[in-house]
Amino acid sequence: MAATAGWDWAGRRAIVTGGGRGIGRAIAEGLVAGGAEVHVFDPAGAEGPEGASMHAVDVTQPASVAQAVGGLGPVELLVNNAGITRDRSILRMTDDEWRQVIDVNLSGAFHMIRAVAPGMTGAGVGRIVNLVSINGLRGKFGQANYAASKGGLVALTKTAAREFGRKGVTVNAVAPGMVLTEMTMALAPELRQRALDESLLGRLPGVEDVAAAVLFLLSDRAAFITGQVLQVDAGQYV
Ligand code: NAD
Repeated sequence: MAATAGWDWAGRRAIVTGGGRGIGRAIAEGLVAGGAEVHVFDPAGAEGPEGASMHAVDVTQPASVAQAVGGLGPVELLVNNAGITRDRSILRMTDDEWRQVIDVNLSGAFHMIRAVAPGMTGAGVGRIVNLVSINGLRGKFGQANYAASKGGLVALTKTAAREFGRKGVTVNAVAPGMVLTEMTMALAPELRQRALDESLLGRLPGVEDVAAAVLFLLSDRAAFITGQVLQVDAGQYV
C-alpha cells in the first residue's frame, strides 16, 4: 500500500454513537470528509455534523438499537462514543447514578456491537473503536461508576477483538485523558487545573486530537492493530 493510501472511507457506512457534539461530532466530521456514509445515533436531537444522517437512538435501548441498525444495510465502521458521567464518591453514590452510567457507557456499547458485528463478520470486514478513558485504567476518585464502565469497556474491546479477529474485524479502544468539551467544561475548574498539571505537554488535547486517533484506527493503515488501547492524554497517565 502506498504510504499516503488508506485514509478514505468511500463506499463505507459508519455509525458514530453520541456524535451530536463533542468528540463524537469531530469523529463524524472526519468520516464525512473521508467519504463515508455517516449515521449518528444520538437521542439529544442535536444537529450533528453536515453530511451525516441523524437518528434519535438511545444506546441503552437494545430494541431501538437493533431496529435502527437493521434499517441501514451493511455497516463497516462503528464508533462507540456515547458516554455520560454522574460523579459522586462511592459511599454517596445512588443506585440510579451507578446504573445510568453503566447502562450508557458499557451496556450501550455492547448493544451496538451485538447489533452491528454479524454484518461485519459475515462480510469479513469491519472496524470497531470504543471510547474509553484513562480513568478506566487507573481509577478515579469520585468516578466509581464511570471508571468501572470504561474499564469494563476495555475488557469488552479485547473480548470482541478475540471473537471477531478471524472474521476480518478489528476492535480497539481510544483512551483520552481530559479533553476540553462541554462534558469537561461542566467540571469544577480545579479538576481541569489538575489535569493540566498532570499533562507532560503542559496542554490538554482538543476533540480533533482524539478524533485523529480514532480515524487512524478506522483506517486501512491500522489493519494489523487489534485489541489495543491507545491513550490520547498528553501523557497524563504514563
Ligand atoms: P459529550 O457529553 O460532549 O457528548 C456525548 C454525546 O453522547 C452527547 O451528544 C450525548 O447526547 C450522547 N449520548 C448520551 N447518552 C446517550 C445515549 N444513551 N445514546 C446515544 N447517545 C448518547 O461527551 P464527550 O466529552 O465528547 O465524550 C465522548 C466520549 O469520550 C465519551 O464516551 C466520554 O466518556 C469519552 N471521554 C471524554 C473525555 C473528555 O475529557 N471529554 C475524556 C475521556 C473519555
